[in-house]
Amino acid sequence: MRSIYLDHNGTTPMNALVKEAFLDVLGPAYNASSIHSEGRKARGILEAARKAVLTMADAPAGAKLVFTASGTEANSLAIRGLDGRQAFVSAIEHPSVLRTGVKNEAVIVPVTAEGTISLEALEKLLQHKRKAPLISIMLANNETGIIQPVKEVVALAQRYGGLVHTDAVQGFGKMPVSFKELGVDLMTISAHKFGGPQGAAALIVRDGLTLNPQLLGGGQEQGWRSGTENVAAIHAFGIAARLAAPQWDISTQALRDQLEQQIQAFAPETLVIGQNQPRLPNTSLIAMRNVTSETQLIHFDTHGIALSAGSACSSGKIEASHVLRAMQIPDEVSKTVIRVSLGQGNTEADIQACITAWQQLYTNVNKEKAA
Ligand code: PLP
Repeated sequence: MRSIYLDHNGTTPMNALVKEAFLDVLGPAYNASSIHSEGRKARGILEAARKAVLTMADAPAGAKLVFTASGTEANSLAIRGLDGRQAFVSAIEHPSVLRTGVKNEAVIVPVTAEGTISLEALEKLLQHKRKAPLISIMLANNETGIIQPVKEVVALAQRYGGLVHTDAVQGFGKMPVSFKELGVDLMTISAHKFGGPQGAAALIVRDGLTLNPQLLGGGQEQGWRSGTENVAAIHAFGIAARLAAPQWDISTQALRDQLEQQIQAFAPETLVIGQNQPRLPNTSLIAMRNVTSETQLIHFDTHGIALSAGSACSSGKIEASHVLRAMQIPDEVSKTVIRVSLGQGNTEADIQACITAWQQLYTNVNKEKAA
């Protein structure tokens, strides 16, 4: 049976050119802090990758980039690393922002039923700030794909002396991303979401800001994140960034729209979360009424199709999504969603196979109900 991968928001397969670059550097004794020539070579590799990622993120002159081991770590550094600020985080952030925020007494900002941060609520909360604010708002949500009004948040933040961090982990490689145009102060990017390896990510920081390091040691990464850098993964990260940023094309969106239209043609009651909102072109969060996400995932898996429920959990257990709860979507609905997330290499045949499997389950369930 052919296997079809439709879970690119979870992680992406490594791009073949990126893998080649990764393997080229994997092996030799590369420590970028060493003075010898191997060390200097490693330093050169790191700095080239740093420059590539900064360029592809369209970061302003003087911006710094800290390599981390994951998007989770970069998010945590952004929230914890700016001393003396009061954090404000949206209710739909990835747990790496939300849980870190909660631990640090952040104010949780509600979202509208449309799945975007409530600018009205944010403004009211900022009026009662206790300290200079740091607002963390994701660029695009990992479950729904809904794109957040980051520029508007920045404009609001500036009126209250606030800084803005954006978690661009899902946006980068799937939509145009410009640090400069968004006007943010900090941005997180993670390589494995756009054809790069797992274990390499970055926090980009506007010039003039200083981070309080969360890991102390040898003083790598300008003292902001100690620990020997993962040279091969970072090298591959740089290559993946160069390839991903300009390559995203609208054919993915056409396939995604085709999937939604065909499903809704035979099952009009099917809900596509955020269907009329600006969304990532590859993401579709679909609720098949009365069939649990688990049942659907097992069914798709037996047809060789890998996709996920909206929220993945490390335990493998599916719980009602905090994102959908924040959007006031009842748990009965959110327990029936599956997330289809497309990527480079998916074809119309993949989508047709997904529609056929979907239709089969839907027909079976309705037959059982009628019997
Ligand atoms: N932020 C968002 C929006 C994500 O979707 C993810 C991963 O799913 C992360 C952060 C965490 O990134 P990483 O897997 O590199 O820790």
